[in-house]
Amino acid sequence: MTPDALRDAAIEAVVHAARACRRIQQAIALDPLTKGDRSPVTVADFAAQAIVSLQLAEADGSLPLVGEEDAAALRTPEGAARRTQVCQTVRAVTGVTDEGAILAAIDRGVYAGGPKGRHWTLDPIDGTKGFLRGDQYAVALALIEDGVVRLGVLGCPNLHHAGARGAIFWATREDGAFARGLDDDAVAPIAAGPETALKQARFCESVEAAHSAHGWSARVAARLGVTREPYRIDSQCKYAAVARGDAQIYLRLPTRKDYVEKIWDHAAGSIIVEAAGGRVSDIDGRPLDFSRGRRLEDNRGIIATHGAPHDAVLEAVAAETD
Ligand code: AMP
Ligand code: MG
Repeated sequence: MTPDALRDAAIEAVVHAARACRRIQQAIALDPLTKGDRSPVTVADFAAQAIVSLQLAEADGSLPLVGEEDAAALRTPEGAARRTQVCQTVRAVTGVTDEGAILAAIDRGVYAGGPKGRHWTLDPIDGTKGFLRGDQYAVALALIEDGVVRLGVLGCPNLHHAGARGAIFWATREDGAFARGLDDDAVAPIAAGPETALKQARFCESVEAAHSAHGWSARVAARLGVTREPYRIDSQCKYAAVARGDAQIYLRLPTRKDYVEKIWDHAAGSIIVEAAGGRVSDIDGRPLDFSRGRRLEDNRGIIATHGAPHDAVLEAVAAETD
């Protein structure tokens, strides 16, 4: 399969999953399960992973998938009602009727990743807490080759693009970064934008104070002379905001020493910012290392910028260390 065909298959899979999530958000009273790490998961997370997994397998079944979810909770007797909702959603989108095949497609996401070869990574709903609040979330898919992200696609059903709700972003290192509407396939290139004086710059961060240290970021902003209020937005929509110039800085400052970021939370967003002309590193200035398996074992926190202020932000984060 050519790189362009693979890109088109990835965009189509994300479009279908994002539309399914939007329908579920509108139609179903969401009753989230709580996972072992205390994070929530809904029928939409499972359905989106199944849809993307099935569509990618149809395009090229040889590429493994590092996905956030697995189907264990759907295989239990208590999971029967949710299993039915997931399978009905997936059937309507893909035509696949066999429950076993749908659960197996979700479980395909157990791949361990690592330094060699090509694999996908998927967060079927990044920002599930935002999804549950009716706020922002993203379907995030990336292709990693020998530990380097080659393609990223973000589906953001509640983010506006060209005057309509619902945006899709994607990027490759060769072609750059692009956006289109979720329901409108007119494509426009995006850019992280011109140099902005720090006084006028806007920084974005998680809504969830448990995911990024808000007090620390406020001190960093003050030190840099950034005066605008933080743009708090869930999910990898933060990377999209920097990539298209809605914000100039994304700060993800660790709240705990033992938290290790997951590759599916950063692969798609980081290539979109880089291809739009921005920079991405961890808070120590190290490049994100996607070769270490399912997690960014060698990195701590995240800093993404539209480019120019990156070194100044790194210095300020170090100077204000929590
Ligand atoms: P956000 O929407 O930016 O707050 O990020 C959502 C993601 O945060 C989820 O997909 C989780 O994988 C991740 N997450 C969970 N706990 C933490 C934590 N303690 N620090 C940083 N990220 C976390
Ligand atoms: Mg996530």
